[in-house]
Amino acid sequence: MKILLNKSDLNEAIKGISNLGFVPTMGALHKGHFSLIKKSKKVCKKTIVSIFVNPTQFNNKKDFIKYPRNLKKDLINLSKLKVNYVFIPKKKIIYETKRKKRLSIKNKEKILCAKFRKGHFEGVIDVMDRLTNLIKPKKIFMGKKDYQQIIFVKKFVEKKYNCKIIPCETVRDKNGMALSSRNLLLSKNNLNKAGNIAKEIINLKSLLKKKKNKKIFLEKKKGQIENFFKIKFEYLELRNQKNLKISNTSKQSKIFISYYLNKVRLIDNF
Ligand code: AMP
Repeated sequence: MKILLNKSDLNEAIKGISNLGFVPTMGALHKGHFSLIKKSKKVCKKTIVSIFVNPTQFNNKKDFIKYPRNLKKDLINLSKLKVNYVFIPKKKIIYETKRKKRLSIKNKEKILCAKFRKGHFEGVIDVMDRLTNLIKPKKIFMGKKDYQQIIFVKKFVEKKYNCKIIPCETVRDKNGMALSSRNLLLSKNNLNKAGNIAKEIINLKSLLKKKKNKKIFLEKKKGQIENFFKIKFEYLELRNQKNLKISNTSKQSKIFISYYLNKVRLIDNF
């Protein structure tokens, strides 16, 4: 496994590789990340993983500072997985060049996380543009746990580069909650709570199938779950999985949720 810290090492390593799979990450790697890596290794000749905690996608400085980092352990795991390359750039390498025109998202796209995390997806698109431009992968493997992120990146990156985004299934803990680097910031109690909330939403999704007025049922259930678990959802919404429009049918739809546990923001979709 080669560790690449700058552009010239990167260029040297990847030159001539036509079928390169790329897994972008912010580190503190877990089995969710590993599943993307395994998928890439299966379908691509070589696999490169990036570890970069991208400051521009954090709308809250404290969140950036306390974001889990565990480079030593990450490198051990990546080496065990027999990843070909790990790209660990410093901020100045990624943001060397200034953008002529600021990236923006449309008002009608400011839903779900885009509504609650101002500037977040602009930061995600910016860094994905820069990383894709440097790495020039054939395929980029991304997790459906961050569903809205896939939609934004797909729209931008596939249009600009000869590259395909490959959405991968969410890996969950035994208790049902989606694995996430941020879970390292949660107490055992809160991990249990998040597992139980995930189970409630899975149950809600199946109950919803038989309900005529899904909107009213969802609102009622949302309130009940909030009261029971003493949480407040930023959103709990049923949306079409293709275009993310609010949905009144269970077909082709997912329940999207976001809430905080002890100041840690969790998102998921079912
Ligand atoms: P992150 O390091 O959190 O920025 O995530 C890097 C990539 O891993 C993104 O494409 C995420 O969607 C994906 N990912 C994170 N958690 C999971 C999970 N539990 N299952 C599958 N993919 C995941």
